[in-house]
Amino acid sequence: NPAGGPGDEVLLNSRPTVAVGEPLVVLSDVEKYFGELHVLKNINLSVGRGEVVVVIGPSGSGKSTLCRSINRLETIQSGSITIDGSPLPSEGKELARLRADVGMVFQQFNLFAHKTIVENVTLGPVRVRRKAKTEAHDRAMELLNRVGVGNQADKYPAQLSGGQQQRVAIARALAMDPKVILFDEPTSALDPEMINEVLDVMIKLAEQGMTMIVVTHEMGFARTAANRVVFMADGEILEESDPESFFTDPKSARAKDFLSKIL
Ligand code: ADP
Ligand code: MG
Repeated sequence: NPAGGPGDEVLLNSRPTVAVGEPLVVLSDVEKYFGELHVLKNINLSVGRGEVVVVIGPSGSGKSTLCRSINRLETIQSGSITIDGSPLPSEGKELARLRADVGMVFQQFNLFAHKTIVENVTLGPVRVRRKAKTEAHDRAMELLNRVGVGNQADKYPAQLSGGQQQRVAIARALAMDPKVILFDEPTSALDPEMINEVLDVMIKLAEQGMTMIVVTHEMGFARTAANRVVFMADGEILEESDPESFFTDPKSARAKDFLSKIL
């Protein structure tokens, strides 16, 4: 039962204060090709409400494509992906609304360069969630304060450090009240001294019960915050286990080899 079943919950949950609930993001038999290239192979993965899943694996193994498919930035050729029971529609207003349920934080912060920090955080809620401007602004300020950059609200992204920009990107994702947030190597583009300020924010979110799928090689984060580690190679999920077992006793040769290179 690689996807984990109800009976596994207690064992898998390394965050005792957060109970993992019913399946929220479910991928069933997902196949994805880029032309001839088979990038996701028979992916089955179920992420429960409140669960934090770390996805790890060599470059080119399909981790980003997995995230992008969940958010429908990529279309899959077969299988299904549901968020809270609903498949993502292929286009239109319904897609925008459902996509807003899935927050995304990228390696390159992807903030709007010509908007201020607070504008970056209010745009989505006003346009997609139809929030009133003052309400969106208040909420944005609350979130910016929560991630420690409230005093940067009127600056432009280029005036902030990478670590600050990434925390703004997290606040922007939170502003949409997503059901799940996907993080695709959120600290890979950061200078080493800024990695922890971003991981600390992510750890807090995890502790507060946010459902998260996190592509990262940060073992400390996985050990502190993850319920489960999923190891991908060549488009397949080769291994799934709790972080401690994965890092101390990986089962597959591919995982052993990978860990020997990053540790
Ligand atoms: P990872 O994030 O694990 O490094 P990716 O999901 O980015 O892996 O890529 C998986 C495979 O798909 C790689 O071989 C990559 O070159 C290929 N790929 C990714 N995006 C595209 C694309 N838009 N067009 C064609 N090939 C792609
Ligand atoms: Mg990637």
